[in-house]
Amino acid sequence: MDHEDLRLWSKRAADWAADYHAGLRDRPVRAPLVPGAVARQLPGAPPEAAEPMAAIWADFERIVPGGMTHWQHPGFFAYFPANAAPASMLAEQLVNAMGCNALIWQTSPAATEVEQVMMDWLRQAVGLPEGFVGTIHDSATVATLSAVLTMRERALGWKGLEEGLAGGPVLRFYASAETHSSVDKAIRVAGIGQRNLVKVATDGARAMTGAALRAAIRADREAGMLPAGVILCAGGTSVGAFDRIADCLAVCREEGVPSHVDAAWSGSAMICPEFRELWAGIEGADSVVLNPHKWLGVQFDCSVQFMRDPGAQVRTLGLRPTYLETAGREEIVNFNEWTVPLGRRFRALKLWFVLRAYGLEGLRARIRNHVAWAAEARDQLAALPGVEIVTEPRLSLFSFALGEDAATEALLARINDDGRIYLTQTRVDGRFAIRVQVGSFDCTREDVMLIAKVVNELLAR
Ligand code: PLP
Repeated sequence: MDHEDLRLWSKRAADWAADYHAGLRDRPVRAPLVPGAVARQLPGAPPEAAEPMAAIWADFERIVPGGMTHWQHPGFFAYFPANAAPASMLAEQLVNAMGCNALIWQTSPAATEVEQVMMDWLRQAVGLPEGFVGTIHDSATVATLSAVLTMRERALGWKGLEEGLAGGPVLRFYASAETHSSVDKAIRVAGIGQRNLVKVATDGARAMTGAALRAAIRADREAGMLPAGVILCAGGTSVGAFDRIADCLAVCREEGVPSHVDAAWSGSAMICPEFRELWAGIEGADSVVLNPHKWLGVQFDCSVQFMRDPGAQVRTLGLRPTYLETAGREEIVNFNEWTVPLGRRFRALKLWFVLRAYGLEGLRARIRNHVAWAAEARDQLAALPGVEIVTEPRLSLFSFALGEDAATEALLARINDDGRIYLTQTRVDGRFAIRVQVGSFDCTREDVMLIAKVVNELLAR
């Protein structure tokens, strides 16, 4: 296959993509497969001879789409969304065509500079004050890891990088049990040790309060340990919990402990000023992560970390060996120094395309619809016999259950086997509950109202 063949096949791929999206409602949202069903259809060894693209394409059509869970399906209400707006897909096609690696400014100047400008556009869009600067990571997991490594090194006066952690003080980090497991992973990978991630108790609204945080920090200091960082939850994965951000950040300032806020899901909603109350006080954070690849339509992967002082992170993660030097250009930014991997994709292009193709008003309208439709779906479900709302909507996320866990689990299995919608589960104070999040880029009100319709039909059978 050469570039002339690519011209033909990519036109065919564009048609396939349009048809695929137009036909999504006819497919079951979740792949109706048993493990191994796809692998069994593939030969056990690679081909020695080149194969015609027509044969490869035919196998793709035969094996792959039917083996996928369709994240862009308007009936996808599981996990959190991973939206891919058409303008984002188009940008990714162009990036694919250039096949670049934006590891330093010089290797892809446009990638770096579009990223710098997009970070400032997004900062303004979500209402963060001037002074915050951002970078794009692949995932919130890596953004949080980068922030944790930076907080660790700050606490150690940057000695850990040279000397390692052995023999040093016991570093302590603080988060509530509502934060995502990526926080636990970052703590483990950073060599802090899971037991040094203090899970601060939350109040009746599942929020960490300043008072509880202060007490935890002071108790550790009295015990001779070194409080090194706080990770706050702004829209938890389970039921959308928000810590008391302003309150906790005031404690961080008083106690001199740096902070990172995980707004991976909710951050996109902050383009709507009326939702910013949920993270009021955010301007006091040292670092914030939000994922445009969740709710903004900028497809996976695109996770943005804003920082007040990127210098601390660059000091922690930046290395400049001779082969990466750019002679005489000290003013440039090399974004690999802000993160863990060296190689970087040109992710800012899709952000640029999406922000322009829909405008902030278009994006806000979608998010506002999702929040309003989630509230409507909640009311419809609450009216069904036997259905109980377990957690009320936070933005567009709520949960429900039947009386007994076994009945709720059986209902969830039936919903997902039915295939018209896809929902996933959580546990709320030990109780099994079905999560509903509304956030699919192209879903309509009718798609969302299908949730109660499907549940009603299944309960009546
Ligand atoms: N934080 C929250 C609140 C999440 O919901 C998730 C994933 O769903 C993450 C972090 C991890 O995100 P990523 O997949 O970008 O690493």
